[in-house]
Amino acid sequence: MTYLMALDEGTTSCRTIIFDAAGKVASTAQHEFQQYFTKPGWVEHDALEIRDTQFKTMREALEQADLSASDIASIGITNQRETVVLWDRQTGEPLHHAIVWQDRRTADDMARYDTPAHQHLVRSRTGLRLDPYFSATKLAWMLDHADGARAAAQAGQLAFGTIDSWLLWNLTGGAVHATDVSNACRTLLYNLETQDWDSELLALFDIPASLLPEVRPCSCAFGTTTSELLGSPVAIGGMIGDQQSALFGQACLEQGMAKTTYGTGCFLLMNTGEDIVRSSHGLLSTVAWQLEGSAPVHALEGSIFMGGASIQWLRDGLGIIDAAPDVNALAGSVADNGGVVVVPAFAGMGAPIWDPYARASIQGLTRGSTAGHIALATLEGIACQVVDLLHAMEQDSGVRLSEVRVDGGAAASDLLMQIQADLLDRPVLRPEILETTAMGAAFMAGLSAGIYSSDKDIAEQWSLDRRFQPVMEDASRASHMSIWHKAVERSKQWVDDEKTHES
Ligand code: ADP
Repeated sequence: MTYLMALDEGTTSCRTIIFDAAGKVASTAQHEFQQYFTKPGWVEHDALEIRDTQFKTMREALEQADLSASDIASIGITNQRETVVLWDRQTGEPLHHAIVWQDRRTADDMARYDTPAHQHLVRSRTGLRLDPYFSATKLAWMLDHADGARAAAQAGQLAFGTIDSWLLWNLTGGAVHATDVSNACRTLLYNLETQDWDSELLALFDIPASLLPEVRPCSCAFGTTTSELLGSPVAIGGMIGDQQSALFGQACLEQGMAKTTYGTGCFLLMNTGEDIVRSSHGLLSTVAWQLEGSAPVHALEGSIFMGGASIQWLRDGLGIIDAAPDVNALAGSVADNGGVVVVPAFAGMGAPIWDPYARASIQGLTRGSTAGHIALATLEGIACQVVDLLHAMEQDSGVRLSEVRVDGGAAASDLLMQIQADLLDRPVLRPEILETTAMGAAFMAGLSAGIYSSDKDIAEQWSLDRRFQPVMEDASRASHMSIWHKAVERSKQWVDDEKTHES
């Protein structure tokens, strides 16, 4: 029994990865599930489809590796965060499609709460900001719009969970209704200081406490799967939100270590140790993880909405490349950006600017501008946003980062990583295994199963693929960033209604 199974439930697909005890991948199974864009700005998932798709990948991963349930020491779950599921405790039926983290339907509801007093309350208790991105207003919306939901909730018949809780509840045949601290802290309902649900916030957002899952550390005995699921019961020993899981999987275990994930969006997280660092630059304070019997480790987090997705736009929107990896040859075909700047604010700007009314722009075009310049400027635009986030993080924490670890699909681009190192003026370290999100959850499960004795074992498993060293001259970097900031200013406050971006 030396294998660990990671369930990586993302925004567009469910994956199961089986790792051996040395951290090597034994098998991977993945299936996409349907996205429901029911109205402009709305994004839903069918929670039952997520459950069934996840279960299917578990069976397939076992089959591929020629293993049975008894070979798996423990299961770790990592998941898209903030997405809300509300279900009936008796029947297990969701009352509504899950409302996904990207969904903006509660922007107007959120605006009702937007007073300085509420902002302060939310920031000081949760480390987050009043934004429809988080779970609270999504859950309240569901209670108000799903048939009979409020009354059933008052009668204690319903359960709320983010996707981690939903999967756990289903894996255990409805026996366990729990979440972990890294997911709980993304709801706007969890108090970082008291480490519990906050009654004042529950009252503010009108959420009955009877709905809530129990909050546990990320690594502990969560329960066991039903025997029917895989043939025999398997322990579930890890649960952690996707971004925090990547931070753990990257072995950023010491205060001041950071990682950037270049997926659809980009997420930069920095370990701040046991300190809750309060941001004055629009970053979030979040729980990174908690091991059983230890204090929570905290992080600062900043996100960019369009990271790798900007490259997809070059493919699907502009049609100047056929596949995402082609961006590297096209961008590499020009000596420099030729004065072109791309601000990839297609869905507004996240941290540290937070302008939902900003829109993407291509600036500095001349008659000599080519597709190559636009491709290179797009990669630079992704990297420049990460630079701004990192500087904000350093100012908030007072720590100067010595290096950054990277992962996610677009981290495969050597060109993007070199641009990133140059513009950051810090080394960028890419590990051999880019499946860091799944690894984080597998590590959590391995710790609770006793396969690993401490997080030091995890640090030993991290190995470097390539280190990108900054080589850009200071003056050139300064000029790049100053033109970037000029272009950002001109992209701000572009539309009057934030929902215009979906059409
Ligand atoms: P997610 O988990 O958010 O779905 P991934 O981590 O799988 O995202 O990363 C996918 C992104 O990576 C895509 O947006 C794609 O544009 C980008 N990408 C994938 N391969 C490359 C590559 N070789 N060069 C540049 N970008 C790439």
